Amino acid sequence: MADSQSVDFELLKKYAVRRGSWYTLYPYQAQWHEEPDTAPANAEAAIDEYLDTANGSPLAVYTHFPFCERQCFFCQCATVISRDKAMHRRVLEDMRREIEWYADKFAKTGIQPNIRELHFGGGSPSILNESDFEYFVESLKLVVDFDKLDECSIEIDPRFNVAPDKLDFYADMGIDRISFGVQDFDEKVMRAINRVNPPEMIAGFLDHPARKRFQSVNFDILYRLPFQTVDGHRETIERLIEFKPERVNICQLGHRPDVFPHQRAYRSEDMASIEETIEMKEVSTALMVEAGYERIGFDHFALPEDSFSKAKAAGTLHRNAMGYSTGNCIDILGIGPSAISTLGNWYVQNYYMLPQYRDMLAEQDLPAIRYLRCTNDDMTRRQIIYDFFMYGSIDKRQIESRFGISDFDQYFAADIGRLSELFEDGLAEDLPDVLRLTDSGFINPRHASEAFDTFLHGKGVPYAHSREVGDGRKSFDRKTQIAG
Ligand code: SF4
Repeated sequence: MADSQSVDFELLKKYAVRRGSWYTLYPYQAQWHEEPDTAPANAEAAIDEYLDTANGSPLAVYTHFPFCERQCFFCQCATVISRDKAMHRRVLEDMRREIEWYADKFAKTGIQPNIRELHFGGGSPSILNESDFEYFVESLKLVVDFDKLDECSIEIDPRFNVAPDKLDFYADMGIDRISFGVQDFDEKVMRAINRVNPPEMIAGFLDHPARKRFQSVNFDILYRLPFQTVDGHRETIERLIEFKPERVNICQLGHRPDVFPHQRAYRSEDMASIEETIEMKEVSTALMVEAGYERIGFDHFALPEDSFSKAKAAGTLHRNAMGYSTGNCIDILGIGPSAISTLGNWYVQNYYMLPQYRDMLAEQDLPAIRYLRCTNDDMTRRQIIYDFFMYGSIDKRQIESRFGISDFDQYFAADIGRLSELFEDGLAEDLPDVLRLTDSGFINPRHASEAFDTFLHGKGVPYAHSREVGDGRKSFDRKTQIAG
């Protein structure tokens, strides 16, 4: 894959109108077993199997604190909008029970996992006041040795309960990476998405001396937001580059008001046309590359000295439920409502809904609602899809040896056949040892990935949306959640 963006505009338009998935998971939750009666036992089987086989391989812990102070209208995360500090504390106490469950398991088995990464996600963990955050960290210390962490990151919503001075507090707590969900700096766009965080607000954090205490600053940027223009997007990227964040994630907004009712706050007519959307992608990619950023996968950028760039060069980059990782930790233990664990060939997900999450823990069960033990075929296809998203190319021989497949072309004959339109359009090439996307094809790796998603082609439960599952839908009913 080259970095140049010599693209055929008309061709991209043809594919841009087709919906597709971002494949942070494979298979998606619609294929998992959603069984309240058996999920906790299967979640325990997953952790037992992991402990038996991990042999000290590094593990990441992801914590999901599910509250935010204000609803961003574009959001697709599992969140509850509440400023009720007592409710925040109550969920932290529930999460402590979940952590205690794992501490007890590790003590009983005598196996302490090699936890090397910790991520504070959500929701907005930065709305926690310092004493509640300290309680959260003390709870995590039951299973995490902070001195051994290679990475510890937090999502910061700069608008609420977090002044720049709080950066020193986070650094003192052991956090060495911070992430801001900036999205856009245009006033009209910020108002339309109900998230006003102007550049002056971000500068307050990044100009603070405490910035030097963090290895990395990440910005999340969205394009195709309501009222966003190509020029406005360009100005946002130019302003962002002045801040010199180590990592930037520039993603296209998914608009699914049928699944996320708050997305009804704006109309699809207010969003950029297909042509403008393609142009935004081109503009931001060109500006980032020109500013010296490495392309990481198809939608991330990192400065050359950042660990993402080093992982890309070393070929260890990995895709997961959080987006990308350096590949240091492949397995993830998820803690908190809706959190997903990826352990070996298992996926396990906790209840989204707070009452059920709490009740399960009160019964001293893991609060799992769904799970999947992936087959070798699932794992192979996941790797192929992730390779499309990370590198835009599949090393056939490597896939054969890693997954015990004798002949890639034969095993995936039907899948390769589904790529014929992409081959004809010059978006992909089938070479003897490599299946690769061209520069134009890598702009949108979703279509090539879909050819290998067997659930889109007759196997399993058909899905119209990755989160189209019972509990997932209900999770966006705020009243139901808060009633707990
Ligand atoms: S702060 Fe983040 S998680 Fe919360 S509503 Fe906004 S986008 Fe969603």
